[in-house]
Amino acid sequence: MNPKIWLSSPHMSGKEQEFIKNAFATNWIAPLGPNVSGFEKDLETYLNENTHVAALSSGTAAIHLALVLLGVEHGDEVICQSFTFSASANPIVYQGATPVFVDSEKDTWNLCPEQLETTIKDRMLKGKKPKAIIAVHLYGMPYNAEKINKIANTYQIPIVEDSAEALGSTFKGIKCGTLGDISILSFNGNKIITTSGGGALVSKSKALKDRAVFLATQARDADVSYLHSNIGYNYRMSNVVAGIGRGQMTVLDNHVSKRRQNFEFYKEHLDSIGDIEFLNEPNGSFSNRWLSCILTPNLKTREALRQLLEINNIETRPLWKPMHQQPIFKDAPSYTNGVSDTLFERGLCLPSGSNLTENELDRIISIIKSYF
Ligand SMILES: *Cc1c(COP(=O)(O)O)cnc(C)c1O
Repeated sequence: MNPKIWLSSPHMSGKEQEFIKNAFATNWIAPLGPNVSGFEKDLETYLNENTHVAALSSGTAAIHLALVLLGVEHGDEVICQSFTFSASANPIVYQGATPVFVDSEKDTWNLCPEQLETTIKDRMLKGKKPKAIIAVHLYGMPYNAEKINKIANTYQIPIVEDSAEALGSTFKGIKCGTLGDISILSFNGNKIITTSGGGALVSKSKALKDRAVFLATQARDADVSYLHSNIGYNYRMSNVVAGIGRGQMTVLDNHVSKRRQNFEFYKEHLDSIGDIEFLNEPNGSFSNRWLSCILTPNLKTREALRQLLEINNIETRPLWKPMHQQPIFKDAPSYTNGVSDTLFERGLCLPSGSNLTENELDRIISIIKSYF
């Protein structure tokens, strides 16, 4: 049997252990320390000088804190892109609020601007103005931030930008992770850079970042006795794993270009198979191509191809199952147009790691070609 090819596996630079060693040498084995502030600084420098970053225990924790900071409470409604991973939506429920799911557009596979506006109007007509909008750059492809921001501005609804899959992507030259009122990143094991597990909240306001850190460290008031006037969370990043993040930042740009090369390779070798389609970058969009995705003609082909790759020890994955199809969200209001349903049926994510070898890519291509 050929060795396993993973969908997206961690890819270390070799520098990570230096930073971890330093954490041990200085005994900063805690959810604070020089690696945490160093990693935050690295991210701020990378994203844009005007950002403030709070390193957290996960991307999900970052979304949860974003909703807390925006005042989302029990009984509120929050709009969320339906075509996403469940972690985008779960924190809405943590707050006792109701998710309202909105479908995607064909050009980006992300939040459809027209559908978004229809939804806002309809929810307002029904008596509730949505408290926030969670927009996602799925698979690294930026959502149309120009149109989405314009609608959000018109109705004065803040945007939580879920950039968990899009570190390194840009929209009209602006980095993903700086396009929302509050943005979030993830450093889970299979993301473009990883800290094994981790996330970050990004804001243009220092006060908001400080507030996020305060809430993420149990919301202890400035008082020697343990005084609390707010519900707190234990969501801060550990100084040990932040060391992995500092090492990973040195290779982020390499990871982006390698993942883009993977996509180009697949496209070059599979485009001639008329039955396979790719999502191209709209004008002005630059995707980190976190995962390379293909569209097959239908569900039957997608499943047959996935199983053929699986028996050849190659891991692939259907595109995300839309939230409006999930049993747990069956009672949530949803505004659909068929786009994400079709993408889910036809789409497959191919192995996309920045550590894939030419040999492995050849193996994948030859099996896909043998199928068609
Ligand atoms: C991974 C991911 C998250 C959650 O991040 P974690 O760090 O795993 O909690 C949220 N949204 C999307 C779109 C993701 O892919």
